[in-house]
Amino acid sequence: MLDNCTLCPHRCKINRLAGNKGRCKCDDKLKIALASIHMFEEPCISGKNGSGTVFFSNCNLNCIYCQNYEISNLGKGKEITIEHLAEIFLRQQKKGAHNINLVTPTMYVYQIIEAIKIAKSKGLRNSYYLQLKWI
Ligand code: SF4
Repeated sequence: MLDNCTLCPHRCKINRLAGNKGRCKCDDKLKIALASIHMFEEPCISGKNGSGTVFFSNCNLNCIYCQNYEISNLGKGKEITIEHLAEIFLRQQKKGAHNINLVTPTMYVYQIIEAIKIAKSKGLRNSYYLQLKWI
């Protein structure tokens, strides 16, 4: 689908595999701004041990008052591999996070699916649930 991207309702129909970028400013590279254990905020999600948050760079929503402007609009972050993302999920599980909390993941859903497959093969628990924000 990335060679004619219709992952979100913008339906840019551009070839991200060829390095083109649509409204979300993403090509085919996986890019994240932050991976951390998120505490206190949203207690029903973060619970006692915290939520395994991954903030993805760029965004398909383009809200003009975004509180994470540097990440969502300027694309702050670094490129990582799918295998590295799988390692991050597993590390968060090891730290006791109650869940994996993916913030603005829509543009990277294919890479995330592949990372989950890898992480699952290495012990990511079935009962682990994903919290997807802003899809
Ligand atoms: S994910 Fe990005 S490139 Fe694909 S349709 Fe949405 S805004 Fe366009």
